[in-house]
Amino acid sequence: MKPIPFNRASLAGNEFRYIFQALEIGHISGDGGFTAKCHEFLERELGVGKALLTTSCTHALEMAALLLDLQPGDEIIVPSFTFVSTVNAFVLRGVRPIFCDIREDTLNIDERKIERLITSRTRAIVAVHYAGVGCEMDSILALGARHGIAVVEDNAHGLFGKFRGKKLGTLGCLATQSFHETKNFTCGEGGALLINDSQYIERAEIIREKGTNRNRFFRGQVDKYTWVDVGSSYLPSDVLAAFLFAQFEHWEQIQASRSRIWEYYRKNVKEWAGQNRVKLPFVPEYCEQPWHMFYMLMPTLGARQGLIAHLKAREILSVFHYLPLHLSEMGQRWGGKEGDCPVTERVSDCVIRLPFYNELSNGDQDRVVSAVREFACG
Ligand SMILES: *Cc1c(COP(=O)(O)O)cnc(C)c1O
Repeated sequence: MKPIPFNRASLAGNEFRYIFQALEIGHISGDGGFTAKCHEFLERELGVGKALLTTSCTHALEMAALLLDLQPGDEIIVPSFTFVSTVNAFVLRGVRPIFCDIREDTLNIDERKIERLITSRTRAIVAVHYAGVGCEMDSILALGARHGIAVVEDNAHGLFGKFRGKKLGTLGCLATQSFHETKNFTCGEGGALLINDSQYIERAEIIREKGTNRNRFFRGQVDKYTWVDVGSSYLPSDVLAAFLFAQFEHWEQIQASRSRIWEYYRKNVKEWAGQNRVKLPFVPEYCEQPWHMFYMLMPTLGARQGLIAHLKAREILSVFHYLPLHLSEMGQRWGGKEGDCPVTERVSDCVIRLPFYNELSNGDQDRVVSAVREFACG
């Protein structure tokens, strides 16, 4: 039997053709024609003022930390249950991360626990929309406004998700996207910074272009370009943008196939889950999810490890993720200890993610479902 991977990048159709076009045009460095098409696509579909492709979501987050002018000793409030980059990008600036626990239902940062973590040094709250299900943005934005704290969305999971009718990625002053191989849309490694507060646009262009005003030069706004600020090289090659645009072009089909896969899982493991004290993802009725992943919460760590092994024995790869960041080696440097974020600690032991990719076939998905249903939690 052929192994079923956890993830597999799928082609949408025109990837090779567009890469070839980029080569023919002869502009394969950053900010060529395909990058412009990707920017237009994101700005149009999301209705954001400015989208800038980056080499990764990690780098978009680093740009956010630079744009917010965060200084050593400043603090940000972040969920402990997230990918390392959500925090690392800020720690690079000398920022101290203050870890917040998550909600039991959506596994998003618990907005009711944020305010007590705010100090005179708090400069930003980073909201991660786990599995693309929106955080409680009304409360979080109100908190940010009341305390004069920026709200950044790490929307790596959430492209095309909605919170109360509003698109994720358009709510914080800055938001970041990932086009890593494991995300809904990919170019291997890639990302984007979405800018919702126009005061950041000009400086974002400069930071992304090595601290130069090269973008203004190309628009004819200055007659030579020069070094004007700090910066780095955060723009991807147009070859990658060509690949990504081919994916964007078919975004509705990609999302439709992911929604079918997700619903099929839910429908077919629901009864088994009920009998085995397994919790399925919770999506509040005012959130629209973008079908990024299918996870389940097993009753115990033993059951979680048992199911991973059970599936592996049948050549099906499932994964767990997010070891609590406050308990990581780095997290402990800021005094993180067991009990700080009890929900995160429990959930981290119990999450399992099933194989999920655009081209997961019905037959393979049936194999996964049957294997899951053979497993008893005991
Ligand atoms: C994937 C991911 C990132 C990092 O994305 P890269 O593009 O690989 O840098 C950041 N945050 C979250 C929540 C992610 O899932």
